[in-house]
Amino acid sequence: MARSIDAKCKKCRRAQEKLFLKGDRCNSPKCAMIRKPYAPGAHGKSVSRGLSEYGRQLSMKQKIKRVYGIFERQFRKHFDEIKNKQGVTGDLFLARLEMRLDNVIYRMGFASSRATARQLVNHGCFKVNGKKVDVPSFETKVGSAITISQTKEGKNYFKNQSQVLKNKKDFPSWIQFDQGKMEGKVIATPQRSEIGSSIDPQMVVEYYSR
Ligand code: SF4
Repeated sequence: MARSIDAKCKKCRRAQEKLFLKGDRCNSPKCAMIRKPYAPGAHGKSVSRGLSEYGRQLSMKQKIKRVYGIFERQFRKHFDEIKNKQGVTGDLFLARLEMRLDNVIYRMGFASSRATARQLVNHGCFKVNGKKVDVPSFETKVGSAITISQTKEGKNYFKNQSQVLKNKKDFPSWIQFDQGKMEGKVIATPQRSEIGSSIDPQMVVEYYSR
């Protein structure tokens, strides 16, 4: 599977905001957006660009791709999956991205970043409704139950993570999580209001409609 080898912190510095790509480090003073809060490169401190409408749409598209850690081809594929559905296209698109299995694993707290979640899914660590799924882009549905594969639950990673999960309180409203059993369920469609005000999927819709 293709993966980005660009430095994650540079992506945040380019976007000029925290994209939370590195798990726990993002909430520590080591975060590059605290130490070097300017664009990367020799002229990073001096450059200030006024973007055109097209430039703003393109930059929003790039930002959302970076947040979810996916490439153009997959991103466009998700857009094509929802573009003819009834409803607000931008909201449907964001919900499709949120319902990716790797993102659901991250939101449930099994991993501290989407990159780690993707790796865990690739390694076949989870079951959806009792069946092993190792495809990060797999679309979960309302009612999907996520459990750790029996062969993986004894691993040190999950033993350590169970301690973290016992203290976790910030589950999104669309996820129900049983901290004792380490099992989660998608109970509703993710709403845009819960996802972050700096993400505007409608700009991506406008970009692809040009
Ligand atoms: Fe972004 Fe996290 Fe790096 Fe901070 S530590 S710049 S939030 S990836």
